[in-house]
Amino acid sequence: MSLLSAGNMRFEWGMHNPAREKFLSENAGSSHKIAAVELIHSKTVYSVNSAQELNGLKGDGILTQNKALIPVVTVADCMPLFLCDPVRGVFGTLHSGWKGTGIVLEAVHTAVNVYGSSVKDICVVMGPHIHSCCYKVDDSRAALFSSEFGSESVATFSDGTKSLSLAAANLFLLRKAGVPDENICIRNECTCCDKRFGSFRRQTAGLPSDMPFCERKNYFTVQAAWTKWSD
Ligand SMILES: [Zn+2]
Repeated sequence: MSLLSAGNMRFEWGMHNPAREKFLSENAGSSHKIAAVELIHSKTVYSVNSAQELNGLKGDGILTQNKALIPVVTVADCMPLFLCDPVRGVFGTLHSGWKGTGIVLEAVHTAVNVYGSSVKDICVVMGPHIHSCCYKVDDSRAALFSSEFGSESVATFSDGTKSLSLAAANLFLLRKAGVPDENICIRNECTCCDKRFGSFRRQTAGLPSDMPFCERKNYFTVQAAWTKWSD
């Protein structure tokens, strides 16, 4: 995953982002190809053999068996998930914020149904994301999370305000799907607390609340998260 210092890794079809192109091509090397989609906070996961198959597509997850591909998503407080089934040689990357929570199940189902993975072989790393220390939400979103992803996915502060734990929600889903605990790793960095990371919440905190998103997006740094196969 890139850090704030690498610059903005934003990706949209048709957009030219020289910082991203330079950074990713340095990491990919000449033998690998970047596979990307334009993110829309959905639960859509693509299974692909080539980067071209994704041309013009929008979604939030990419799985492949092609070891020359590097599936890339971007995040700025949302959770990047890195998946690998070492037995079937399946791997990929997902973008999962509150709206897209559940995409990890889609990815597990895709691995099983498309690639013949056994759930017991699937390994998942939940990368740096905004943790419950900083992810305050209103009561209705907290209630929705608690009912769909278990009570552990909501934290309550002493003043009664509530926050979300994306990690607890995804752990709940992975356990439900049958992925063994020992195959799941949760990084403990909070992207909002830890200034090495770009953060939507931290970097846009002082902006006027009526600023439209198209302007707001110039103030926070999205990071690239990718999974690269290595034998
Ligand atoms: Zn925090």
